[in-house]
Amino acid sequence: MDPIVPKNFIQQQIVEDLAAGKNDKRVHTRFPPEPNGYLHIGHAKSICLNFGTAKLFGGKTNLRFDDTNPAKEETEYVDSIMEDVKWLGFDWEERLYYASDYFDQLYDFAVELIKRGKAYIDFQNQELISEQRGTPTRPGTDSPTRNSSPEENLRIFADMKEGKYNEGACVLRAKIDMASPNMHMRDPLMYRILKQPHHRTGDKWCIYPMYDYAHGQSDYWEGITHSICTLEFEVHRPLYDWFVDELQDSDYRPRQIEFSRLNITSTVMSKRKLLQLVKEGYVKDWDDPRMPTICGLRRRGYTPESVRNFAELVGITKVDGVTDVALLEFCIREDLNKRAQRVMCVTDPLKIILTNFPDDKVEEVDAINNPEDESMGKRKVPFSKVIYIEREDFMEEPTNKFYRLAPGKEVRLRYAYFIRCNDVIKDAAGNITELHCTYDPETKGGNAPDGRKVKATLHWVASSGALACEVRQYDRLFTDPDPDGNKEKDFLEFLNPDSLKVIGDCLIEPFVANAIPLTNYQFERLGYFNVDPDSTTEKLVFNRTVSLKDNNKK
Ligand code: ATP
Ligand code: MG
Repeated sequence: MDPIVPKNFIQQQIVEDLAAGKNDKRVHTRFPPEPNGYLHIGHAKSICLNFGTAKLFGGKTNLRFDDTNPAKEETEYVDSIMEDVKWLGFDWEERLYYASDYFDQLYDFAVELIKRGKAYIDFQNQELISEQRGTPTRPGTDSPTRNSSPEENLRIFADMKEGKYNEGACVLRAKIDMASPNMHMRDPLMYRILKQPHHRTGDKWCIYPMYDYAHGQSDYWEGITHSICTLEFEVHRPLYDWFVDELQDSDYRPRQIEFSRLNITSTVMSKRKLLQLVKEGYVKDWDDPRMPTICGLRRRGYTPESVRNFAELVGITKVDGVTDVALLEFCIREDLNKRAQRVMCVTDPLKIILTNFPDDKVEEVDAINNPEDESMGKRKVPFSKVIYIEREDFMEEPTNKFYRLAPGKEVRLRYAYFIRCNDVIKDAAGNITELHCTYDPETKGGNAPDGRKVKATLHWVASSGALACEVRQYDRLFTDPDPDGNKEKDFLEFLNPDSLKVIGDCLIEPFVANAIPLTNYQFERLGYFNVDPDSTTEKLVFNRTVSLKDNNKK
């Protein structure tokens, strides 16, 4: 086997751990989402890192739902998360876990810590507990019950579990160090009372473990070797290690490693804010194509390959930063350029009558399906007397640099013929209603035998066989590159009122008639589009995934 070339500092650390023979040279990671929302592109980065890294080293990855907070969690989220991980191309095989699977074990271990004199019940309220924690430079104050006996604590903890106390009446705290310079070590909470049914354990529990307590223990029981998480957990690491130290009964030991989270310009990434966008109707749903959610990207036309490639390109570092959304768009363009079927669609039709074309004749011209991939072959596109082009491809009085269609000017209709504009027809109000043109039958396929050139090639749709369709064009959801970064203003104030533009009366060639949802296309000269799930044979609906070029770089 070729030696593994680490691509980032985490993989480098794994190489070192393996060289040192740690954990029987196993590599086992986990992806631990909390099922309180849909996954977003930031999670995709974490998924690619966890699954990708384990794969690189021939290891395994678990999917574990961190379902320790019954108040915000729902089965809908669990299902969507599984769908998204699979869609990205990763497989947890039989290793699907829930932190709630460990509620019994976590309870038993908490009892054990109480017996060891390392955990105690505190009856003070949250405010007081926080206040007594002190500040990083000032040691905390002991709780009055910090030194109560294990027997006393065991009895109360059992009563807590039985529901004999109200929410907020008391908590279980680990007894660590009230003077630690790390605030997370100043007797952190392990359990709180929540009288809420849980989506998996129902009414069995009314006390729930805190994330910091549940997480490391779950890692331990699953045999995780590298617990990869985002940077904000760096300060929790001593606590992670403290709990593991208490639990450890062999040489095996999981190790927490932190990396910087992904942030992207012109969007928000916190689940709370994404939920707000959905709940308050600023977007249609979690899978609205403007959302940075994985299901939103999927509906928009992103492919798993493009998202994985993006995750690879942004890299893994310890430095927080913001990635330009243009990089994500670059990744999907690159992927679709290689794969997307080309078709012609006219979004703002201007009618052309080819005065010298026989009235009822329908010809077929050959069109190339993808110039990047010959194996995709060719298709037939109908060509007839009435043709539509984009209104903006015509100018009655062309400006200097306008090379497209104008009175007396000749252009190429892609794959078809040269046409020349002879007459401009207008309605009473002076609006152009149609153009009368002639086509040159000698130029079939788009080349003139006499070698004459035209300066423009236009896409078009012939009335024969044309299908009506709706095109949804998306722009950035927020007008500010950093909608989250403004302390004075709420992120909602930066919502882009023009983020969705629905164009109703577009025309598209008949090739797409039976296209199934999510199929990707390139509409020649317009961009990459896909079939929206709302699409039916009666009414085709397309989403614009991305423009052909980065418009901001013009
Ligand atoms: P949010 O802040 O959006 O609510 P979270 O961290 O609470 O996200 P979890 O469901 O707990 O969401 O996250 C699951 C995993 O995904 C964690 O390991 C977390 O570190 C990682 N993750 C979450 N957001 C990002 C991000 N923006 N970039 C990289 N990894 C992320
Ligand atoms: Mg979290």
